[in-house]
Amino acid sequence: MSTKPMRIAEISLSALKSNVRHLREHTGVNLIAVMKSNAYGHGAPIVARAALEAGAMMIGVADVDEAIALRKDGIDAPILCWLIGPRADFDGAVEHCIEVAVSRIEQLEALAAAAREQQCVATVQLKVDTGLSRNGASEADWAPLFSRAIELERAGLVRVRGVFSHLSNAGEAADAAQGAQLDSAVELLRGLGCEPELIHLAASEAALTRPSLHYNTVRVGMAMYGLSSFTDRTSADFGLTPVMTLKSELIGLREAPAGTGVSYEYTHVAERDTLLGLVPFGYADGLPRALSGTGTNVMVAGVACPIVGRIAMDQCVVDLGELVARGISVEVGDEVVLFGDPAAGLPSVDDWARRIGTINYELVTDIGPRVARIAVESGQVETKQQSTTLHIADPDAMHALGIRLGKSFVAGDLVILTGPLGAGKTTLSRGIGEGMGVRGPVTSPTFVLARTHPSLVGGAPLVHVDAYRLADAAELDDLDLDFEGSVVIAEWGAGLVEERGSWIEIVIERPTGATAAATPADVTLDSDADEDVEPRTVTITGYGPRYRNGVL
Ligand SMILES: *Cc1c(COP(=O)(O)O)cnc(C)c1O
Repeated sequence: MSTKPMRIAEISLSALKSNVRHLREHTGVNLIAVMKSNAYGHGAPIVARAALEAGAMMIGVADVDEAIALRKDGIDAPILCWLIGPRADFDGAVEHCIEVAVSRIEQLEALAAAAREQQCVATVQLKVDTGLSRNGASEADWAPLFSRAIELERAGLVRVRGVFSHLSNAGEAADAAQGAQLDSAVELLRGLGCEPELIHLAASEAALTRPSLHYNTVRVGMAMYGLSSFTDRTSADFGLTPVMTLKSELIGLREAPAGTGVSYEYTHVAERDTLLGLVPFGYADGLPRALSGTGTNVMVAGVACPIVGRIAMDQCVVDLGELVARGISVEVGDEVVLFGDPAAGLPSVDDWARRIGTINYELVTDIGPRVARIAVESGQVETKQQSTTLHIADPDAMHALGIRLGKSFVAGDLVILTGPLGAGKTTLSRGIGEGMGVRGPVTSPTFVLARTHPSLVGGAPLVHVDAYRLADAAELDDLDLDFEGSVVIAEWGAGLVEERGSWIEIVIERPTGATAAATPADVTLDSDADEDVEPRTVTITGYGPRYRNGVL
């Protein structure tokens, strides 16, 4: 029997590895992969292996206990921890070869004592405060701390591997001033006769935007998880892909007549007859209660559906009325995506953060212990969904299919339409335009590259592209299409636009045996004009998370 959990944080190892490689290439220095707080909620053991495989040189965590737990999980790469309390397990740190960031002489002495006892060497990095006013050594304490570390190194009890500090991200001038402070700490250390192997200051923000502060190593958390530390720039702007897709499922369906009150205190009352879905995901699992009533959407069958009423500890309710309106059927067990990669058409954790005035960091680290972290090798884009093959008798049936598709399309849908000349591509497109309610006439895009048909009903425009005549993806980029805000039909676009993450492929074929009568040499503006009435097969396939539950 399958025991698929009701709450899943899918961790894309390929996204994680690609982010690590990208950061290594972008910075050109060593990368310490930061995995405090269960790898920002992503699951530390899963993330650690993938990050090391992709070229991270070391793992960074806050507490000694987090470091020891990773060792016990079988991670044998270097691990650095930097938030050291008075009763920290120094013996355990030395026993498990954990590098400890020291900012006080007492910490050095405790590590040296453990090393003496265990007859080995404690590796340390010196943590200096350069302006954040948190846990590094203050400038006045640098000299005594460094001198004692060097003494213990000479006594064979301690190895000083590095020196580092942490930025306040309070602006370019403040960051530069912190860099200058770190420079003086390094200079002091060298003056005392110690050459540190590792010097580091930058976390994600500076790793992405301040090359002068990279030294020979950066410590990166958020960017490695494919999330942006900036409110005005997305991770995609930096070439990073979100690693986590947060999922649940429908565990109940309920028809609700207009006037039905939903969840605690009836903060939501159904305005019209609708269908409600129950999702076993609540604030104990990391869906903030403050998102209640903000209009936050989840994706069900590729359609955005709002969370309605109060979010409870274990569950929330979503309004599935939009699915019903479009004739899309849902069942108990259907997948619900809470957030994921916005480039793949999914809601984003950044959107949650904006709605409730916090940062993505807080939200991912708040994902609760009931959510199963599950590693997936190749992310969300790999799945080819089941195809639907339809037998279309004549142009009228093709037109009707178009109308049906058009009614179901929403902004962000991308259709790759393929078929020989005269197969009925234009007839289908014309039907799609009619179904969407856009201004016509929809004709073959030949000779125009791209034509936009605005909506007459307040919906998304239809953009019709002839990709056959585009030389490459760069030319497509030049068209500057608004993929998110439109429905795009690209004729012959396979290979050009698949990087969008989710798309629909429609292939029109003549059944074998049918005459290839219409292969017109004299193609006119509307190449389907003299289309024959032979039957066709139309195969419709959805790719990517948006079409997980099919297209029609
Ligand atoms: C959390 C942390 C980091 C990583 O910060 P990101 O912004 O997630 O990259 C780096 N260094 C220290 C000391 C930290 O506490």
